Amino acid sequence: MADEFPFEISPMFEGERVRKDGMYVELAGPKSKGFELVKSVEMDEIEDGKFTLIGPDLSEMEEGSRHPIAMIYRIAGELVEQDLEAIVERRNHDFQNYIQGVMHLNQRYDIWIRVSKDAMKKGLNSFEQIAKATMMLFKNELPFIEKIEATYITDLAGVEKELDGAIATYTARDERTRDLHDEDVDVFYGCTLCQSFAPTNVCVVTPDRISLCGAINWFDGRAAAKVDPEGPQFAIEKGEVIDAEGGEYSGVNALAKSLSNGEYDRIKLHSFFEYPHTSCGCFEVVGFYIPEVDGIGWVDRDFMGTAPNGLPFSTMAGQTGGGKQIVGFLGIGINYFRSPKFIEVDGGWDRVVWMPKLLKDKVLADIPKDIVDKVATEEDASDLESLKAFLKEKNHPILERWVEEEEDEAVEETATAAPTMQMPMMAAGAPMAMPAGSGGSGVKIILKNAKVSIDRVIIKKSE
Ligand code: SF4
Repeated sequence: MADEFPFEISPMFEGERVRKDGMYVELAGPKSKGFELVKSVEMDEIEDGKFTLIGPDLSEMEEGSRHPIAMIYRIAGELVEQDLEAIVERRNHDFQNYIQGVMHLNQRYDIWIRVSKDAMKKGLNSFEQIAKATMMLFKNELPFIEKIEATYITDLAGVEKELDGAIATYTARDERTRDLHDEDVDVFYGCTLCQSFAPTNVCVVTPDRISLCGAINWFDGRAAAKVDPEGPQFAIEKGEVIDAEGGEYSGVNALAKSLSNGEYDRIKLHSFFEYPHTSCGCFEVVGFYIPEVDGIGWVDRDFMGTAPNGLPFSTMAGQTGGGKQIVGFLGIGINYFRSPKFIEVDGGWDRVVWMPKLLKDKVLADIPKDIVDKVATEEDASDLESLKAFLKEKNHPILERWVEEEEDEAVEETATAAPTMQMPMMAAGAPMAMPAGSGGSGVKIILKNAKVSIDRVIIKKSE
């Protein structure tokens, strides 16, 4: 059946990147609009394999151009239920990356797709070919889908018309876990889909912690594990509680050890510094430690500027991803900001000092009232000096840590006559990453009894 397509289809193309100079057309992405959505319907509501295109086709697009795109799939089957929509939707990312010459990044309303010039030369000239190949993969890999049809929209007005409805669907899915918490369940869910490019990453999805990609919540994991227990989403028995506040469980540790091939054997689900959750590369937001203020900043994919540490999202994402525990950086899904256990063991929102304005606005209603005006955005602070000044002016709770540190330093200075700045507690033996721009300001960092392993050193000329 795959012979009908003018391109090869294989998981080996998953890592393929379509760079700007090899790109024929770009769809959605940060400079346009788009989304992907899966909806479950009754069997008699759809025609299996049907494809509808609203807007220009690939063959009508100019080389080097950019267009919006919505990819809407409707699925039906005896076992198909609403809870499976998010799981199926997340696979659009894998399956489109199986197509040679097609690159699909991100998820939901953040999708970013490129089609290569080489693929066009070989005969890929219609969205129908991409949609039919993707639908074939959906049915082959997820046999509970008995019928599927696809509608792609490449016309801006059409995408905008459907976008609000899609966002309402994502929001409704995220809302479902609001009243359910980690202590209310005996089972969490794991996902290893991203091991294709981050071989040691295991996402642990709990009621209080959505997946890093933001696309899979606890209910989605449960539905996926029920319908395909041998698939990439599976149940994790919590086991014994080791650290309730940090979110450490014996069952999660055991599974993490086996699924990461022993790369790590402890995970604290709600910790930023000690045995943090791994980060694959699909995270919606990166958290970064700012030693100069002993606080944590967060930056999302949509933010095009640089954070107060002088780094853009892309640089920090590069340091964070890969499936390891990187102390100092943490990838999360946006909905984790809404969790009552959000980095609880490290101080929760009291530790947050900076985030882009648009991201802050997205989660505004969930930021505690007493801290909301004390978290800086790019409008308040663009570098470390302006950030410090803002935090002082607003009397941010992080100032209490500065006092404690100054007292500690005074004690140490008296005892050893050597100035130190204490880093937050870290896992012995865990790799540590510091923002490249975090040096300077006369701060000296002394690591005591620490083993430091370095996977990669990036040396850049300062600008
Ligand atoms: S980010 Fe996590 S939950 Fe999302 S697809 Fe990757 S492994 Fe699965």
